[in-house]
Amino acid sequence: MRLASLLEELYRELKEPPSVPYPEGVPEEARPLLEDLHEIWGDYEARLQAQGFTTPGRRFKEVASRVSDLELEGTPFWIVGFYALTASENRILKHLWEGGAEVLWQAQTEDLPPLYRRWKEDWRAELQEVKPRRETPTRVHLIEAYDLHSEVLRAKETIGKGGGPDAQALVLPDPAALIPLLHELPEGQEVNVTLGYPLERTTIFALIEQLMRLQEGQEPSRGYYHRDYLAVIRHPFIKRLPTPSGREGRIVLHLLEERIRERGRPYFHLEELKGLIDGRAEAFLASEGFSLEEASLFIQEIHRRVVLPWRDVRTAGQLAGCLREVVRFVLGPFIGEEGQLERYPLENEFLYCLETQIIPALEGSLFRDEPIEQGLLFNLLRRLVALTRTPFEGQPLVGLQVLGLLETRLLSFERVVVLDLNEGTLPSHEDVDPLMPPSLRPAVGLPEREREEEIVWYHFERLLRSSAEAYLIWQSAVAPSEEGLESKTSRSRFVERILWEEEKRKGRTLEEEVERLPLTLPSSCFLASEGIEKDLGRVRAFLMARAQGEGISPSLLNTYLDCPLRFYYRYILGLARPVDVLEETDAGILGGVIHGAMEDYFRPFLRRTYHPVADRDPGRLIELFLRHLEGSRLGETLSPEKRFFVEEAAKFRLRKYLEGMKGPVWIEALERPFRLTLSLGGSEWTFYGKVDRIDRRGDLRVILDYKTGYVEPPGANAFLEKISALRPPAGLDYEDLRGLKRGIEDLQLHLYVLLVSQGREEELRRTTAAYVMLQEQGEEKFLLRPEKLRDGALQRLWIQWFRVGLPQILQYLLRHILEAPLYFRATDDGLCRSCDYEPSCHFA
Ligand code: SF4
Repeated sequence: MRLASLLEELYRELKEPPSVPYPEGVPEEARPLLEDLHEIWGDYEARLQAQGFTTPGRRFKEVASRVSDLELEGTPFWIVGFYALTASENRILKHLWEGGAEVLWQAQTEDLPPLYRRWKEDWRAELQEVKPRRETPTRVHLIEAYDLHSEVLRAKETIGKGGGPDAQALVLPDPAALIPLLHELPEGQEVNVTLGYPLERTTIFALIEQLMRLQEGQEPSRGYYHRDYLAVIRHPFIKRLPTPSGREGRIVLHLLEERIRERGRPYFHLEELKGLIDGRAEAFLASEGFSLEEASLFIQEIHRRVVLPWRDVRTAGQLAGCLREVVRFVLGPFIGEEGQLERYPLENEFLYCLETQIIPALEGSLFRDEPIEQGLLFNLLRRLVALTRTPFEGQPLVGLQVLGLLETRLLSFERVVVLDLNEGTLPSHEDVDPLMPPSLRPAVGLPEREREEEIVWYHFERLLRSSAEAYLIWQSAVAPSEEGLESKTSRSRFVERILWEEEKRKGRTLEEEVERLPLTLPSSCFLASEGIEKDLGRVRAFLMARAQGEGISPSLLNTYLDCPLRFYYRYILGLARPVDVLEETDAGILGGVIHGAMEDYFRPFLRRTYHPVADRDPGRLIELFLRHLEGSRLGETLSPEKRFFVEEAAKFRLRKYLEGMKGPVWIEALERPFRLTLSLGGSEWTFYGKVDRIDRRGDLRVILDYKTGYVEPPGANAFLEKISALRPPAGLDYEDLRGLKRGIEDLQLHLYVLLVSQGREEELRRTTAAYVMLQEQGEEKFLLRPEKLRDGALQRLWIQWFRVGLPQILQYLLRHILEAPLYFRATDDGLCRSCDYEPSCHFA
């Protein structure tokens, strides 16, 4: 397509191109085309002639070469609205001019724009000046808005209702502003939209693009990628399709989405997807008025009419047929429906554009039956769509005129409002043609690229100068760039030029006269409080039930200490973690797999001595790990590559753990639950915990908790320096809780020691606990190292902590849960990053 447009430009410029030997700065694929450009050109021309075809550019060339034969006598001609001429236009218009045609330009005679100057010199023309009706200079308002929405709101304030068709115009250099603008205009405002809207940005093309991606991401052995499939069934045009009996299909599709998540696999074949709506869904479907059979037929129909047509597309003709079939199926049920035109006026235009431009272009191509690789064919469609604008043709004599910049040619208005005057939008980013970069254009006789910007500037300035009043608005927001970095949008160099000219005219700087629209946010956007108000009765009922039932666990207390809101979402509201397809290794599931393998590995040694050297059997541990992995959700869902890495990493770590174990240990317990009831604040509270393993090492008892991911381990001297002296804070506010969190990061090992020892002095004297860091070759991170426990002074502090200090902390925490008025936000901001509730939490 790029080659075709190059040849087209060459026709218009009346150039027969030379071949370009050794072209610099072009991609590898473009080189042969440029090296043989002359031959390609000759062959193209010969084939067009032989087949009796032509192109618009070739027609220009034809007219230009024969225009001198045209007799013009007595025919009045006016040449109006031209600025930059191609070589063929120049030749045609010059002939008309020499035959008596009048040429009209809109510009200041004493300061002619460069291309008019060149034109005048080329033709050796004398100018006659016509004075404008209005001599007063245009009043220019310069406005810096925050973002598109604030631009649109400011434009809305500026335009008044009523006025003739030439009273005011809204000019949109970027058509993306059209839809937000139309939504903001006052009700009843008559609008005449005259601009080309990119087909690429429409809802219908979003569906087509998604269907192509679904096809491109398909793997023959595994099926369709679930995210691509979900994007298709979530598309608004698919969701609004009715089932065979005319019921709402979105209910079935929503159920299907839930089932895909539950199933947890990243890839599915279509048959499997259909099978996901099975007997389990029967009752739910019946409550919505569907039979299982109807739901199944509906899904099959979507597969057959929307997904499958893309599978075997191999030619442009087939692609055209596929597009037509899919679009008609998706939009067919709504065409002609009452209110459809009013509800989707723009979509109808887009559909018309698809049916009259894109599909015929594919069907009418000479290569329509040539087999082409599917990816290339899809890219061809993408390119075709990228070049297509849906022409809105309104009723030019009514209402507010909304136009693109080029559509304002030859028009003038009392008041113009131009939006999006930002660099990259006006002038737009230069689209560097990889086939013909700017440096090569002179080599084939084409004009320089700078001309494009000059043309846009001319039309922009002409529009402004012909208006009584001009509002120039741009955005100043910081936005993510295509490279993923944030960048501030800067105002257009056109604004800078206008500003500079105005400053020269007025003899002073005008920067302070730029109106800067403030970013106004309603006060409701700011959080009025530090958390959510507690229903104290409800939280009390929950906690009492927990204490009298399964018991209060370390994870419940840790959750509250980390973030009372998280505690609220998880325990009080019961919001479970969302079920989703597993694509990455889920740390929680992997942790469960490793715990299971460790338990099974040590079980034969329960209440026996394990000798790390004699009994070490890494093969058995790895086999147990693989067995547990196979039986978990990860076993079913991990891709072979990810599974390989998970297995290899786990094998390495487990082996290292066994190698690092020291001294014989007597295994006292594995996965054993403990309970303890304490009288705190006048009530009885039962605590509960299940410990992974308890070793007896000499005369000491060591509680072990396996950690597969990262946790902040207890510091080597934390007990002596921080914890042993910890006292409950005085108050129940947020800062008090934060203070406690800084004092004791994590309650788990403390509570385990208390539970296992049952708070008895003689047991505390010989019990400590440690995290086993499997990521760090099984290193044990102790709450208090065994040798320190034997130190008399430290031992007394240790006992004192568990008999007095820790119960006081537990009592404080329970009081905080029961009496603090709010569920506060996280006590450490970093916690939000890994929180399951972060997407919907206002306090994150
Ligand atoms: S996102 Fe932050 S504040 Fe909200 S619940 Fe999670 S940890 Fe707490």
